[in-house]
Amino acid sequence: MQGAEMRLARHGARRHDVFFGGAAVAMAAAVFAIDTLTSIEGAIAVLYVISLLLAAEAIDRTGLKILTVIFIGLSLLSFLFTHGPEPDLQTFLRLSVAVAALCVTTALLLRTDRARTELLGMNTALRESEARYRSIFDRARVALWERDYSKLRDFLAGLKHAGVSDVTAHSQTDPEFVSTCMDLIKVVAANEAAIELLGTSTPPDEGGVTHQYIPADSKAFLSILQAIMDGAAYFEDNAEIINRNGERKAVLLSISFPDDPSAFNRVVVSMIDVTQREEARKALTEAQAELARASKAATIGVLSASLAHDLNQPLGAIGVNCQTLVRWLDRDPPDIEAAKRSAERILRDSGRASDIFKSTRLSMSAASKDKEKFDLGELIGDTLALMEHDLQRERTTVKVVQNDRIQLVGVKLELQQVLINLIANAAQAIAHSNPALRLVTISVDGPIEADYISIAIRDTGDGLVGETQRKLFTPFFTTKENGMGIGLAICRSSIEARGGSLEGSNHPDGGAVFEIKLPKEPVNA
Ligand code: ADP
Repeated sequence: MQGAEMRLARHGARRHDVFFGGAAVAMAAAVFAIDTLTSIEGAIAVLYVISLLLAAEAIDRTGLKILTVIFIGLSLLSFLFTHGPEPDLQTFLRLSVAVAALCVTTALLLRTDRARTELLGMNTALRESEARYRSIFDRARVALWERDYSKLRDFLAGLKHAGVSDVTAHSQTDPEFVSTCMDLIKVVAANEAAIELLGTSTPPDEGGVTHQYIPADSKAFLSILQAIMDGAAYFEDNAEIINRNGERKAVLLSISFPDDPSAFNRVVVSMIDVTQREEARKALTEAQAELARASKAATIGVLSASLAHDLNQPLGAIGVNCQTLVRWLDRDPPDIEAAKRSAERILRDSGRASDIFKSTRLSMSAASKDKEKFDLGELIGDTLALMEHDLQRERTTVKVVQNDRIQLVGVKLELQQVLINLIANAAQAIAHSNPALRLVTISVDGPIEADYISIAIRDTGDGLVGETQRKLFTPFFTTKENGMGIGLAICRSSIEARGGSLEGSNHPDGGAVFEIKLPKEPVNA
């Protein structure tokens, strides 16, 4: 309230007090005079009640009680003055009626005053609560609307009464239905965030504006109608609205419906703008799809590289064996036995090449690969036989150190591929050393800790120099002129896939050593 208004109100109240106070005093004086100076036979003192009622407008509760005592005193004084110390019963009863009337009136006035004070207190609390709500409503960063859904609720209740239960189905039979429902909604108030969201500068306060902001094909709007028809207490869903500039915005919409049907004239609707979040989610999905495509392409690249790498050895061996075969046949007379041996080798290597294809196809199709029980010593022997030509050409001696026979369960071909890679690397690492020192040692140990076995392949080359040790397993890292740098990366991932590990380091006595640790039974069998 403004200062001037407050002064005016105070002035008005003072005039009111003076008027009623003065009237009460005048009335009391008149009653006292009549009661004392006249000999009218009646309960004149009862008229003090009128003074009390007039005074109640100007004084507080304590004043009222004091005034009651004074009026009772004055009544007694008049009584003694007119009737002396020995009154008859009738006059005494009249005095008693007057005193009782004064007491009852005071009690009623006090009760009314208490009720009025309580009412005023409640009214103030209500006003404060309304002001608090208004301030929260206005300042909230969430877009809030107060909408009048009462007419819409009545309309839907009527439809329900007529037997409609599915709003969506009904909207298909009546093309005007959605539009009619929108017309029945009135916006009572909108906060700043709501105005901002709609891109307007003024609150949308006209009935029917809903048309502008809710798309005609909005599924969320139909769901709201259904929720109202079903008497739901709460509604929450993703929705779309159209702002003033015609842009569609994704929002999270929530409405809590009142229990009391008469409160449907002020239903609060909240909206959170999630347009950016939705756009980010869409971008993320697209990026993920892009990544999936890229990684598929990369996988195909790695697989072809791996295939080329793995096929190199058997195809090379087939070439060498073919040359040898031709030489044996060119002899005069042809050495049929030796030619047969070469042909058998060709057969064996072509079988291996075909196994490699099979295994690659299996790894691509993610089908389970055949696991079998096999003897590790035998597998090493077979592998060395396969590499016989390469090793002979490089004049490499291979020593196998194994005390006990070890049985393993797993995919034999995979482990063999790893062994071929590591032995071939070792042989290449010593290719330029003195032939007398070209030794590759394969030490098999097991079981070591917790049923693991170890296969260490050590060479007598220069070891892992410079950044080699750090980058050994990085795909496409190679120090060789014709290398692909893919072998060790594939070896490690295939061993790790079986629950094992592969590490490369320098041996204290020189050369490099690669150690495979494998569980005897595959971890993911
Ligand atoms: P590539 O043999 O095609 O180069 P690898 O992945 O098998 O691919 O090996 C990567 C690199 O690791 C090799 O180029 C080489 O520098 C190094 N390397 C592998 N084995 C040995 C070894 N026994 N001694 C020294 N360096 C090695």
